Amino acid sequence: MIYLDYQATTPVAPEVAKEMAPWIEDKFANPHSPSKWGHEAAAAIEVARGQVDAAIGLKGGSVAFTGSATEAINWALKGTVEKARADGKEPQRNRIVTIATEHAAVLDTCEWLAGQGIDLTIVPVDAGGRLDLELLERELDERVLLVAVMMINNEIGVTHPITEIAKLAHECGALMLCDAVQALGRLDICTGPDLVAVSAHKIHGPKGVGALWMRKGAEPAPLIHGGGQERGLRSGTLSPALCVGFGAAAKLGAERCNRDYDHVQKLWAAAVHALGPGWTINGSTSHRYKGNLNVRRQGVDGARLIADLRDVAFSLGSACASGSGRPSHVLRAIGLDYRQARSSVRLGFGRYTKQAELVDACKRIADAAVRQEMLDA
Ligand code: PLP
Repeated sequence: MIYLDYQATTPVAPEVAKEMAPWIEDKFANPHSPSKWGHEAAAAIEVARGQVDAAIGLKGGSVAFTGSATEAINWALKGTVEKARADGKEPQRNRIVTIATEHAAVLDTCEWLAGQGIDLTIVPVDAGGRLDLELLERELDERVLLVAVMMINNEIGVTHPITEIAKLAHECGALMLCDAVQALGRLDICTGPDLVAVSAHKIHGPKGVGALWMRKGAEPAPLIHGGGQERGLRSGTLSPALCVGFGAAAKLGAERCNRDYDHVQKLWAAAVHALGPGWTINGSTSHRYKGNLNVRRQGVDGARLIADLRDVAFSLGSACASGSGRPSHVLRAIGLDYRQARSSVRLGFGRYTKQAELVDACKRIADAAVRQEMLDA
């Protein structure tokens, strides 16, 4: 099996599995209980919190663990609205501004909030998947409560100028949420946002744990009520194993960031070369994380390519769009028509991808595409 679906999830690093093992096998204490064992688990979680915080690398805030980045994003959006309502800032500030290529965790939550009376503005992107800052600026005024823009797009790898966007948001008195799920451990997290959502399983950590970094004073109202864990902001017993795994993955990611980045640059060049002519890259190539190669070829059916090559794991536009039958909203947002979107596949690679296997997979994908063309001719 050649695994080329790094945007969907990443293999757990051996170092991470090793750190987690004692917390699965022997150390079962509740980290919120006052026993000696409980204290030991709580201390391990605090070390992990520090590691995640250090990997995010922003000053003046703190990290709360969640069950996923989806939860962190829901909390950031709904909790910020809830807090504004409680503080009496809403209805004056009742608008959320986001962009057309955000992950469903942001877009669907925003749509839900729109159903609850929030005014929602979705700013389009250009053909490269980039946001025009002037277009964004035109939407920003004293009615805006929150601006939500991701750092690296999960479907096409395109990056956004988060520091500039945060500055524009702050100039109109709004907060800024950045979905940095695909960015953590891959690029330095841009300074500026007030809220940052991250996820362990995208950085060689375990599934089932995410985090929200919150600038002091920008903490959203709680979404999950109960035992008051996470400083009363997010209730629920934390899993020491998952938190320790996240911390270890974050530490490793920060240590290996440059090495992984260089590796990915080489892999990208090799993959583009191996695919050969006839393919068009979806999304900007200059403002892009190169571990994401989203390509299309006229006349190809991406779903059939995936079915034809059972021992190569790759994806349609996104894991969420795959299987739903719906063409990816990101590919549609950059102007692709239905057929172009259907002829697109996403190859995602990273730390553990070997160049030879990637080249082999790309050649097989290219051959399978040519076979499809011949059969359909
Ligand atoms: N945001 C982006 C950009 C993602 O790629 C993903 C996962 O696909 C998420 C959010 C959701 O992360 P999680 O799987 O931790 O809920």
